Amino acid sequence: MNATDLHQNISHVRNRLSKAIDAADRAQDSVKLIAVSKTKPAEAIKVVYDTGQRDFGENYVAEAVEKILALESLDIYWHFLGPLQSNKTRLVATHFDWIHSVDRIKIAKRLNEQRPDELPPLNVCLQVNIPAEATKSGVSSETELLELALAINEMDRLALRGIMAIPAPAADVGQQREQFKSIAQLLSIPDLPMQMKELSMGMSGDMESAIAEGATMVRIGTDIFGARYN
Ligand SMILES: *Cc1c(COP(=O)(O)O)cnc(C)c1O
Repeated sequence: MNATDLHQNISHVRNRLSKAIDAADRAQDSVKLIAVSKTKPAEAIKVVYDTGQRDFGENYVAEAVEKILALESLDIYWHFLGPLQSNKTRLVATHFDWIHSVDRIKIAKRLNEQRPDELPPLNVCLQVNIPAEATKSGVSSETELLELALAINEMDRLALRGIMAIPAPAADVGQQREQFKSIAQLLSIPDLPMQMKELSMGMSGDMESAIAEGATMVRIGTDIFGARYN
């Protein structure tokens, strides 16, 4: 994708975001746009960065670290969004600012141990898969969510920030809204740590619904960088 297309795409996405935020009667700065650059080259990230975008999301550790190192001189916040195996936690702990996909204590413990002392605590969202779908990762019950949150709350190299979800494909906007609404309600589970305020939900196809239901971070790939073929 060339720079002109990327410029058009990012400005179109910003317009959609801004309209959705207005329609929901929310403050313009209450939703952070994460540009999801998985499978896309560092050059494309730089083009989007030059339009003012600072938060980028990646799913595959090895590919991401290569780009992070190539773009080291830029002031980017990197968000890890994908499933994480325990043998790759150190790379995430070292190179990322956020991880949205923590769903087990073992991974959290390793990230906490491996986060370098000279960096601020790693920002963490817990991935939820409620109602549970067999094919998806994420904690699958409110009890599990609460247990994991309370355990991570004790880890001083992790900063617990909120939850992330990827709902099942919905038949229509009404169903999208219902799904996002029930995800948002998880933040009101009694005894959940107070600082869990971030709702990472909404992608290219459903960002308006997510924003209407309170998303604070939307993760947009296709509508910025184009379709992914690999
Ligand atoms: C790929 C991905 C996205 C972006 O999806 P698009 O539909 O391309 O906008 C968002 N979140 C996660 C977790 C992803 O894996």
